[in-house]
Amino acid sequence: MLRVAIYARISADDGTALGVGRQVEDCLERITKDGLDLVHEPYVDNDVSATSGKRRPQFEALIESVERHELDAVVCYAGDRFVRRLGEWADVIELFGGTRTSLLCCQSPDLEMATANGRMVAGVLASMAAGETSRLSERVVREKLARARAGKPNGSMRSFGYNADGSINDVEGPIVREMVDRVIAGESIRSIVLDLELRKVPTIKGGTWRGPTVRVMLMSAKISGQREHTPKPSQFAPTGTPKRSNGLGQIVADGIWDGIITPGETARLREILGDPARRTQRGGRYLLTGIMICGSCMKPMNSHSDQRDGRKYQCIKIPGTGKCGRRSIAAEPSDAFIRDVVLSAIYQGGNPRRFAQPVVVSIDAYAAQRSGLDAERKSAAARYGAGAIDDDTFDTENARIKDAIRRLDVRYSSTAPTSLLGSLPRSLSAARSQWDEWHVDKQRSVLRAAIQELVLLPRRHVGVNRYDATRLQISWQRGLENV
Ligand SMILES: [Zn+2]
Repeated sequence: MLRVAIYARISADDGTALGVGRQVEDCLERITKDGLDLVHEPYVDNDVSATSGKRRPQFEALIESVERHELDAVVCYAGDRFVRRLGEWADVIELFGGTRTSLLCCQSPDLEMATANGRMVAGVLASMAAGETSRLSERVVREKLARARAGKPNGSMRSFGYNADGSINDVEGPIVREMVDRVIAGESIRSIVLDLELRKVPTIKGGTWRGPTVRVMLMSAKISGQREHTPKPSQFAPTGTPKRSNGLGQIVADGIWDGIITPGETARLREILGDPARRTQRGGRYLLTGIMICGSCMKPMNSHSDQRDGRKYQCIKIPGTGKCGRRSIAAEPSDAFIRDVVLSAIYQGGNPRRFAQPVVVSIDAYAAQRSGLDAERKSAAARYGAGAIDDDTFDTENARIKDAIRRLDVRYSSTAPTSLLGSLPRSLSAARSQWDEWHVDKQRSVLRAAIQELVLLPRRHVGVNRYDATRLQISWQRGLENV
């Protein structure tokens, strides 16, 4: 007599139509009719509860019994009671074929594993099931793409800045807006993370922010009301867990929700945060590096330390860059001086928003000009590479374009951080006392918002080695000129 066991499963999609009692009853009837030997009490799993997850303990126990060659056949109500997904057939058939264990089904064809012919039929069934599985996954991929193209959200809308119904969250929306302004104004992710921590702004899970989280959020097109889609096949494999993309999906449609920022701003953020140089670059560690310009050659100054003079801002002569190497000034008194005059200027009249108001920011215009310059640069490199222009022409051309980009960036960053200034403390004394706690990136953003250009003039009294703040010539932003 064949040794058999019964397997039955309650599934969520059955409702009450097909109880375990009915399944077991039919299996017992089959056992009696065929004269089989039931050697174990029925294995029954309750698959209804979503919280029970993937595990089917009784199924696993039954499989172990098959692996130990304790059974000649398993009796079930139907094939779809036994496996949950078509994709599972291949494994089941391999194991049952290998152990010569048959699967007898009351309501669907038996898988007869004791004979070569039966195993061949089972193999065909398995490959058909596999084909069905891949067709299913193709369908899932197509449906996902169709949803994306229709601008429908992928799952829940709840993320920082948005409520679950897709509306903008009153508290978080403005914080997203502020982070975007600050990054575009040149502040680092690190500095923003520090600031969120100081202000005790939680993530949606109540945790603390980390750099990569902020970065992915800001690069996501969702916050500008756009739908992105990452067509990775592995993402939709029926058994695989969805992979997290790096935040740079392809933008395929306008979303059916409102944006917190504009599509132009998302393009700009992706450009800024996607720049590989940004991750390694630790430039701008000091307050005025790159902001102060040498009055002789009009190139940005570097920071430089030496034993004798301590830290200073210096034009460092580098062949090929056009930097003259002629100017330098002590760094610490310069930092203090610029901090004091800038804060006084901003708080003159009491309200730091005052001068930030009339500035109209056009990020799309910036993006257009910037990509024009980038294209010019690429074309110059291509012509040089093809031998159409010589070294000197290329250097000149390249320097001209780089300079145009720098000036565009300065002009642009000087108009952007309106909300940064709006978020400053209400009074000069508060700002003055908090200054040192701010990250240097934030300090630099404040300076850039107030100063159009900072040029280091030559020494006036030759031979007098005393700090002279009047060498720092400041061009103020609009609204601050009368300081
Ligand atoms: Zn110079």
